[in-house]
Amino acid sequence: MTKLEEMLEHGGSVVILGHVNPDGDCAGSCLAMYNYAKKKNPGTYVRLYLQPVPGKFSYLKGYDEIQSEMQEENPFDLCICLDCSDRERLGQFGEYFDKAGQSICIDHHITNQGYAQANVIDAQASSSCEVLYGQLRPDMIDKDIAACLYTGMVHDTGVFRYSCTSARTMEIAGRLMAMGIDFTKIIDDTFFRKTYLQSQILGRALMESIRFMDGRCIFTVIKKQDMAFYGVDNKDLDGIVDQLRTIEGVECAIFMYETDPHIYKVSMRSNDLVNVSKIAAYFGGGGHVRAAGCTMSGSVHDVVNNLSEHIEKQLSLEDANV
Ligand code: 5GP
Ligand code: MN
Repeated sequence: MTKLEEMLEHGGSVVILGHVNPDGDCAGSCLAMYNYAKKKNPGTYVRLYLQPVPGKFSYLKGYDEIQSEMQEENPFDLCICLDCSDRERLGQFGEYFDKAGQSICIDHHITNQGYAQANVIDAQASSSCEVLYGQLRPDMIDKDIAACLYTGMVHDTGVFRYSCTSARTMEIAGRLMAMGIDFTKIIDDTFFRKTYLQSQILGRALMESIRFMDGRCIFTVIKKQDMAFYGVDNKDLDGIVDQLRTIEGVECAIFMYETDPHIYKVSMRSNDLVNVSKIAAYFGGGGHVRAAGCTMSGSVHDVVNNLSEHIEKQLSLEDANV
């Protein structure tokens, strides 16, 4: 019996939490967990709290039952945290984590130091959905749960392209496909589909991107006024950094958007050499070796300069090793 199964066996109320600004893996793993917990212990009190989840994921079972406003007074017996690398990234719902009788964290972030009572962290796994799959009883995974897990795997692997994709990822994806999920629709509608405005802001970001370090690095920035001009918010900026990463000659891509005056949310991606999770962690963020993020303050120039110092250090070490 897995650790998660063991904790669910006790019965009692369950709260499920993910990270702030939920993405596909966060929404997918949390909804898979939500549906599974309700199926395993029918009649038990199960709640899923997340900040608003993009509407493109509304086909996932349980989407309409996600709570975004804190309503609970009584502590939960069990808190399950998914895809969240540290206590702070639980956002306002961290209060439920603090008060819960028991807690378990299921995650794949290399920067996760194990903040719950029980921690199932596999930094080699493609996604939290992949880690969660290993904690569930296969015979209890139905088509709805399979769609949730598959969605998370698709998003965190960039449709099975990123280096975090393994043979095991593909084996699990194959088993989920065999459940009859509409995988082409999941991939097209949630990963590739962009609104007209999302496409426009992507175009703007690419057009204004700047290469440095002989084209090995690239960055672009979207200011608050740009978002207002196009009528988009931060959820419309997904995929910009991945587009920068695939530009020929680029090893490390930086995308940043302004959240407040002189405050930027930074996303980094690398191809083969730079450990961006190390850089993000240095600046108080986290993530994975090839995909990480943090929040930084200062002018755009300051932020890029501070990041490039670390990138340059890593690249020159790599160059020396060749
Ligand atoms: P993205 O660039 O797509 O926002 O995030 C890439 C990866 O880095 C994700 O796994 C995400 O969870 C992680 N990440 C992004 N921003 C932060 C942050 O501010 N703190 C931490 N701990 N992780 C982050
Ligand atoms: Mn993830």
